[in-house]
Amino acid sequence: MLKLTDVNAYYGYVHALKGITLSVPRGKIVTLLGANGAGKTSILKAISGILEVRDGHITFEEAHLTSVRPEHIVARGIVQSPEGRQIFPELSVNENLMIGAYTRTDKKDIKTTLEKVYGYFPRLKEREKQTAGTLSGGEQQMLAIGRALMAKPKLLLLDEPSLGLAPLIVKDIFHIIQEINKSGTTILLVEQNAYQALAIADYGYILETGKIVHRGPANELRNDEKVKQAYLGSL
Ligand code: ATP
Repeated sequence: MLKLTDVNAYYGYVHALKGITLSVPRGKIVTLLGANGAGKTSILKAISGILEVRDGHITFEEAHLTSVRPEHIVARGIVQSPEGRQIFPELSVNENLMIGAYTRTDKKDIKTTLEKVYGYFPRLKEREKQTAGTLSGGEQQMLAIGRALMAKPKLLLLDEPSLGLAPLIVKDIFHIIQEINKSGTTILLVEQNAYQALAIADYGYILETGKIVHRGPANELRNDEKVKQAYLGSL
């Protein structure tokens, strides 16, 4: 569904992505793992059209994405739920979610998606009129994912959904990510929480300083001794 071929990208003189080749098959969960600064977020930015791809190319459903404008990339069905949540704290939960549907016009269809999002996240439904700034960290993360879902993505890009959350909430969120995937949305999941991410993913890539250093089916990466020692900590 999504393919990156030998993608190179820079921030000024910083060579952030050094020949990234990866693919995300339709219907799967693929995870991108690696330490801080490895280039995970930069890959998502390149896919979303926010970071210029200097060499190489990106295709989505066989069509080129390289040099397509970010808003047109959203319209094609690739939507990102950003790291740090970036919700609008002054607006209500409901208003935040409706912002996610800005590319859509069919009101009835939008309402159906809203009900689906509230189905995944009943806590958001309970707080639909509350201002988003008063939500807990976990609820704000749910809101960010919910807002991305309001655009009805074919491919959902998730940037560190577990960041800063308590283990029980992380478990909830990962479970919901699996549910979203089961209902037909393909997912590219960026995580530092390698163990949890590999538990729900089909395939994983491990990045180091802008390069992919390991790849494989998630269950193989999870059981690979070298990977365990280097990336998963003591399990
Ligand atoms: P994190 O978990 O911290 O987001 P990451 O793996 O997502 O890490 P990136 O944010 O993609 O890593 O960063 C990759 C490299 O690019 C790092 O060396 C980083 O310092 C650099 N970088 C990222 N954003 C910028 C920027 N706006 N300007 C300059 N350099 C940047």
